[in-house]
Amino acid sequence: MKIQHLRNATTLLSLGEHRFLVDPMLSLPGAMPGFKMFGGGRRRNPIVPLPAAASEALATATAVILTHEHPDHFDRAGLAWVKERGLPVYTNGIDAPSVRRKGLDAHLLETGVLGLEVETVRSRHGRGLLGWMLGPVAGYYLAHPGEPSVYLLGDSILTENVLEAVERLQPDVILAPAGAANLGIGGNILFSVDELLELTRRARARLVFNHLEALDHCPTTRAGLRARLVEEGLADRTFVPEDGETLTFDGPAQSPREKPRSTPAERPGAQKWITSAFAGT
Ligand SMILES: [Zn+2]
Repeated sequence: MKIQHLRNATTLLSLGEHRFLVDPMLSLPGAMPGFKMFGGGRRRNPIVPLPAAASEALATATAVILTHEHPDHFDRAGLAWVKERGLPVYTNGIDAPSVRRKGLDAHLLETGVLGLEVETVRSRHGRGLLGWMLGPVAGYYLAHPGEPSVYLLGDSILTENVLEAVERLQPDVILAPAGAANLGIGGNILFSVDELLELTRRARARLVFNHLEALDHCPTTRAGLRARLVEEGLADRTFVPEDGETLTFDGPAQSPREKPRSTPAERPGAQKWITSAFAGT
């Protein structure tokens, strides 16, 4: 398995024969407004360009995986690119109908598709009313025969649901958002560094941290995060890749694996309507 970190949450995940482009935000720098609403530091997003390696990586993509439809995960440039390439998009029951309405070939990411075992793990994109408004969001546990299993955590704060999935499924690799995003009101909408440390201690997995240094509302720096991981003695199984960097995770895959639970049928509700209105794609 290879994880090529491109920018923010945009990742090329090589799993078996698949080359999944996860959460394509492909805009040029400054194409979107700032996300930081209060407290200063607002800048147009993204604040950095895609790395030079991105065009070669994008050309190899065989399918798209979408965790949720916020514009830092799926923007207008990403939508146009996926449409032009005609790639299938794999997502959850809440996002699939609106992805389909955008003219894309949307499928449910569930056990049996693409030779994968899948569990959709619901997460929370913040606390209280803000978390409700920014939701619903999901992560995916993916197990491919002969490859390490991977949990694409998606955007979340630390929740009992996420910890339960990590302790039950024991993924070999976890990809988690580390920017400690904050709109300037309503608290963090992504893991704080302390929450990331707790997640790392509770998992046996190797962890890859993304969603860093690409958006105006994500204050955590790679250098600061790496320093904390060293201080806490967790640096040996954690990775904080630069944009464009590829990490390779060879087996042996954990065996036997815990069977993922099937995802109950889910449909978009009022929260999703707000999410779509906010998404702007
Ligand atoms: Zn995000």
